Amino acid sequence: MSASNKKLSFFENVNRNFDRATAFTTHPKGLLEQIKGCNSVYSFQFPVRTSKGFETLHGWRVEHSYHKLPVKGGIRYSDTVDEDEVKALAALMTYKCAVVDVPFGGAKGAIKFDPKNYSSSDVEIITRRYTSELIRKNYIGPGVDVPAPDYGSGAREMAWVADTYAAFNPGKIDALACVTGKPVAEGGVRGRNEATGRGIYYGLKEATDNSEDMKALGLSRGLSGKRIIVQGLGNVGYHAAKFCQEGGGVIVGLAEYEGAVYNSKGLDVDAVVQHRKETGSILKFPGATDIEISAKALEMECDILIPAALEEQITSVNAPGIKARIIAEGANGPTTADAEQVLLQKNVMVIPDMYLNAGGVTVSYFEWLKNLSHVRFGRMDKRFEQSAFDRILHAVEDSTGKPFSDSERSKIAKGPDEIDIVNSGLEETMTNAYNQIRDIQKSNNGILDLRTAAFLSAINKIATSYIELGIFP
Ligand code: NAD
Repeated sequence: MSASNKKLSFFENVNRNFDRATAFTTHPKGLLEQIKGCNSVYSFQFPVRTSKGFETLHGWRVEHSYHKLPVKGGIRYSDTVDEDEVKALAALMTYKCAVVDVPFGGAKGAIKFDPKNYSSSDVEIITRRYTSELIRKNYIGPGVDVPAPDYGSGAREMAWVADTYAAFNPGKIDALACVTGKPVAEGGVRGRNEATGRGIYYGLKEATDNSEDMKALGLSRGLSGKRIIVQGLGNVGYHAAKFCQEGGGVIVGLAEYEGAVYNSKGLDVDAVVQHRKETGSILKFPGATDIEISAKALEMECDILIPAALEEQITSVNAPGIKARIIAEGANGPTTADAEQVLLQKNVMVIPDMYLNAGGVTVSYFEWLKNLSHVRFGRMDKRFEQSAFDRILHAVEDSTGKPFSDSERSKIAKGPDEIDIVNSGLEETMTNAYNQIRDIQKSNNGILDLRTAAFLSAINKIATSYIELGIFP
């Protein structure tokens, strides 16, 4: 294989996109190198005794950028993960946080094992042992490095991480802020579980609301009626599909690793999930066409394709066959750099992962703030706002002489709950960040694709941090 057509690794793909964006900056080379490289890579092995006996597992924690602290990023549980993948994901976290103005550097962790092959008590032993390895080297802590869930891990694992950290740090008042994505009863925040999928919906709503951009793609304005295919029905894919469906999108295709189902008239997301639970497979869903080779679903007729499973799913091999006009990247790194060039030549809009799936880290930021403040969002002001609205309603009633009904009153005079505040903060973040990226695109005469514009947005913000820290002139 010649150097020019050598398959790039995941991290090389991320860096190729970074390099493309640097052509539009005037920052010095040294500063750009500092932003691009991983600041610290901790690769380690640790022994565990599970129900299978003694085993040695491999773990990583990569801290990509210290321009802001703490650093932040999920922990991946996968038997195929390697160091390059963790570095790529850590780098994406840095750019993602910068794009959505979440004041963290990027990081990522991983344990090389398949949790599906272990009992839940084995997974607990492995998670706690991995956490103690992070504590040993100061790779976890509320002001140092704050992990979260990623592929293969979830709220349950994050509760074990928090408990292990607290046990090693008795009396540390902010201990719960050492990890996010915890269950609500263990210091989590309402709305975190569905945040990434909800953020994808807000991002798509904002993108499809721009009539000029939609016209250029040959699409009508708005998400309503758009035909959508989602790959991966896990946390990200399921919630993205569900919120898009509720927002008027028509889910025509759903793909899991065992196959995919397609129905041009639309699929009910919850009914498909229920069918998969009952039968053990997504295939044979009543009224839908089976696609035995799951990856073929990516090439089916639709307006929007949401890859929400794993990286490197859209490659230069299948990109020519893709019919979607918008690729909405739910997963991290689902489109290779080569594939993106093919898509851009076909005038396909690619909404990049580092923006579109940032809902998770945004709400993780809210969870971290909640843990540090030790108070639930809405607790202090909900009643106050409720009575303020109530006073306004009374004033309107007095001046019009017409009373509001009880249902009108309860709808209007309502103070926000935690979930309302979280969702409002998420929508504000996703909308603002999209418009920042779109403005960068516009100010460069529209010649930039959205990913390059997002990288440019991130690079400029991180460069400013380094300059403000006095590290670079
Ligand atoms: P998950 O484990 O909950 O779900 C992944 C789903 O994809 C699973 O249902 C799995 O069976 C399916 N899948 C695996 N291989 C597939 C294939 N070849 N074809 C179709 N389906 C396949 O993981 P998740 O948390 O939803 O993460 C998915 C992606 O989103 C990852 O790239 C992750 O890094 C990224 N991400 C997750 C979050 C988050 O908050 N969970 C945030 C940002 C980005």
